Amino acid sequence: MTTLARLQAELGSIVSVHPAELTAMRADKSGWVAAGMPLAVVHAQTVEHVQAVLRIASAGGVPVVTRGAGTGLAGGACGTDGSIVLSVAGMNRILEIRAEDELAVVEPGVINQDLNDALAAHGLWFAPDPASKAISSIGGNIATNAGGLLCVKYGVTREAVLALTVVLADGSLLKTGHRTVKGVTGYDLTALLTGSEGTLGVIVEATVRVRAVTPGAVVTIGAVFPDVRTAAAASAAVTAARVRPAVMELIDPVALALIVDYLGPTGAAGLSLGSGAFLLLQTDGPAALAEAEHAAVVLRAAGGEVRQSTDVVSGERLLAIRRAAHPALAAHGEVLIEDVSVPRSRMAEMFEKIAEISARAGVPIPTVAHAGDGNLHPNFIIPGDPLRLPGDPLVPEHIWAAADELFRAAIDLGGTLTGEHGVGVLKRRWLGEELGATSLGLQRQIKAVFDPQGILNPGTMFEAVPSA
Ligand SMILES: Cc1cc2nc3c(=O)[nH]c(=O)nc-3n(C[C@H](O)[C@H](O)[C@H](O)COP(=O)(O)OP(=O)(O)OC[C@H]3O[C@@H](n4cnc5c(N)ncnc54)[C@H](O)[C@@H]3O)c2cc1C
Repeated sequence: MTTLARLQAELGSIVSVHPAELTAMRADKSGWVAAGMPLAVVHAQTVEHVQAVLRIASAGGVPVVTRGAGTGLAGGACGTDGSIVLSVAGMNRILEIRAEDELAVVEPGVINQDLNDALAAHGLWFAPDPASKAISSIGGNIATNAGGLLCVKYGVTREAVLALTVVLADGSLLKTGHRTVKGVTGYDLTALLTGSEGTLGVIVEATVRVRAVTPGAVVTIGAVFPDVRTAAAASAAVTAARVRPAVMELIDPVALALIVDYLGPTGAAGLSLGSGAFLLLQTDGPAALAEAEHAAVVLRAAGGEVRQSTDVVSGERLLAIRRAAHPALAAHGEVLIEDVSVPRSRMAEMFEKIAEISARAGVPIPTVAHAGDGNLHPNFIIPGDPLRLPGDPLVPEHIWAAADELFRAAIDLGGTLTGEHGVGVLKRRWLGEELGATSLGLQRQIKAVFDPQGILNPGTMFEAVPSA
């Protein structure tokens, strides 16, 4: 019996071979579209469904691409030719909220915001906050170790994962981690699986750490600087002054000009955005006001024109400037959102590198940054091309060449290829450069231990090894 026939015989109507659906599964939100056509999409509803898919795929040696909400920006959830796309989006039940232990147990398809809505009734929240939190799944957040605006203070997803239940390549079930606050028994497989991008197993349940909603007011600061170097230096000065904002975001002049076009010159925040760079800070908790005042002094000393707001409405207006970044860019074409990180003290240099690369390549690179943690998103806008056929690559080679320079610049500055989006398919060619031969070799061996046949997301994270 073929693999498809076995899937259909064992799993019935949750297996789809509808051409429109198969086509949709070839893309995520990165703009990358996998060549060819997946074999089938399986809409798993239960752990047993996932186990059956993995058993059947193992027996046939057929690749399995796990998919959450499909909002990834690295091409990791795209159904490749002949693969089974295993969608866990339908496994979306919140199984338990244990307020006294500050934890929640969820199926992988639960949308991040839905968990937060459910937690609010208990005065709790789940801190990882990717900008995609309204549309991305907790399983996907864990598989990519997603970050967000608040992770400068509240940590990235890894810090919020206590335990996982994972289906391995052969269909067996692995449980990792613990429900306790502490726990150091054995190797930390929970941390290894967090950020493994579907290459080591399929997360079917997660126990996540939740925290009490932060008491006190939120104070928001918007500051305009004459140029991005000054703004980057100012954000580093805030960190050096030991102020710990919950949000610290930077917008460079190229991105700010597009936002000004989109929102109007004051950005509706009573602050003249002009042609400089914009820094947004939020402080929270009982010391929010004192911390904001301290930060404002640092920002003014660094050359910023500063607006401070303690009321929700004007704070939201300042935040709206940052939120407008993606739509303002997307109004001009498809956006390739890049993602590199550098030590915070070297952010100003990274912005200089970006300007040089932009000038050399002759393409604008509007950049926003989670400045509090040195994570930059240089963006490329790719105008619509009426001659582009479905399945044609979205990103032209000269853009990849500029991106290549960006990645190398970040690594040279002691940074990393990806702060939060993952390696996926799109960054695997640079993996060895950052990791070095010893780490890359060891990581390939770890992959082989979990997945000896190499059926889990082949092509994600690692390039195929040339056959001897
Ligand atoms: C507008 C926009 C804003 C974004 N902002 C951010 C941001 O601020 N921070 C950030 O980090 N990311 C951001 N992203 C990227 C994306 O939303 C995150 O990477 C998110 O964590 C992906 O979740 P998903 O459910 O969509 O996963 P998918 O896209 O479905 O999958 C992503 C990867 O995880 C694997 N995977 C998914 N579910 C599982 C599972 N259950 N078990 C094993 N592997 C699995 C897939 O195989 C794939 O490799 C943004 C994306 C968009 C479109």
